[in-house]
Order: sequence, then C-alpha cells, then structure tokens
Amino acid sequence: MTENKFVKERNKKLGIKTVEAFKKRHFDAYFCNDRAEALNTVLSHISKDDVIAWGGSTTMAELGLADYLENNGYKTINRDKAPDAEAKRKCAYDSFLADVFLMSANAISEDGQLVNIDGLGNRVAALAFGPKKVIVVAGMNKVVKNLEEAYTRARTYAAPCNLQRIAAVADNKTPCAATGTCGDCLSPDSICCQIITTRLCRPAGRIVVILVNEELGY
Ligand code: SF4
Repeated sequence: MTENKFVKERNKKLGIKTVEAFKKRHFDAYFCNDRAEALNTVLSHISKDDVIAWGGSTTMAELGLADYLENNGYKTINRDKAPDAEAKRKCAYDSFLADVFLMSANAISEDGQLVNIDGLGNRVAALAFGPKKVIVVAGMNKVVKNLEEAYTRARTYAAPCNLQRIAAVADNKTPCAATGTCGDCLSPDSICCQIITTRLCRPAGRIVVILVNEELGY
C-alpha cells in the first residue's frame, strides 16, 4: 500500500463520518469515491426540467459539470457567458429563482458545517436562501477538524488561492494577491466581505452535500 492509499483510506473513513454529521444537521449528504461517482450523484438530483445555476467554483470546473450540463440539454443560467456587466448582474438575480444551485465550499468542519467566503455575496446568498435546492460538491481536501480551522482555511488558504485566479485576469490590489498570504485587508478589491457558516440545513434536505475522495479545488 502506498502512502496515497493510506490517505485515501483515512479520507474515506473521515468522509463517511462527516456525511453522518451533515445528516444530523438535516443536510442530505453523500460520500463518493471519485469524481465520476460525484458527477453521477449530482445528476441523480437534477432533471432536465430544472433551471440550474452555479457559483464560481474550481471544483465544478474540474468535474466538468457546467460543460456536461450545457452539452446535454439541461436548462442553465451561465453567468460566465453573459456578454456584459448588466447581463451578469441579471444572471446573478435569476439564479435566486433557479431550481438548483451548484457550488463548492471553502471549508468544511468534521462536525458537518460549511464555511464560505464571498466578495459580492451572490454565491453565499443563494446558499442561504432562494434556489429550491443547493448542491455542494467538495473534495476531502476541504474537510478540517473544527469550525475554527474551517475559518482559518477559508481566510488564509482558499481566499489567497482564489485571489491568484482573479489577479491573473484582472487588476487586484489585495495583499494576498501579491504575497500569497492574508493581510487581513480592507481593500475595495477584497473577496473576504461575506463569511457565512451554514450550521444547519433548513428546510431539511434543501442542501445536498457531496464529499469526494479526491483533491478538488482549493
Ligand atoms: S488579504 Fe484581503 S482579500 Fe486576501 S485573503 Fe486577506 S482579507 Fe481576503
């Protein structure tokens, strides 16, 4: 057995335990061995009658989820294809009325809580209220011991990584874009504006969490 197999084995045991923790908090939750199983689990929760939207997510891109939906006849709201800022804004508003909203999480605690950070807030707003169903897909690399570590991961790792992506395509003056580490900034370019903990799922089952035994996103 290689070290990687031991990591997989550890993550499988922890993933199954974390799924049970989510269920106690009224989430619907699943553990998947790999991204192919995760994709099938997502598809089992949506139909071609659903209007499907999503928040920006490297995990989703790595799963090829948006491409799959658009190439297979699903009804989608794709903000990335909006031609201008006004059209993007409309997509964000329309997403609140979607049947399904897809996203990942910035961090997850072993006791079944989600932590997410947003700049504009459209992603965390849709997580909290609006779309009939929210499906959160996350690699086991997002799971940490407790809520305190989840905040630390979101603020000091996920956000600075996300800023590298943003800074690659747009001017951005946040300290982490330049240094890779959080400077607890108050910059107007900061993406750390809304930090939301999803402690319980209400109505029960509205949020579906799919944990994947792979490294996905950051
Ligand atoms: S430097 Fe600013 S934008 Fe970057 S992670 Fe810290 S608070 Fe967020």
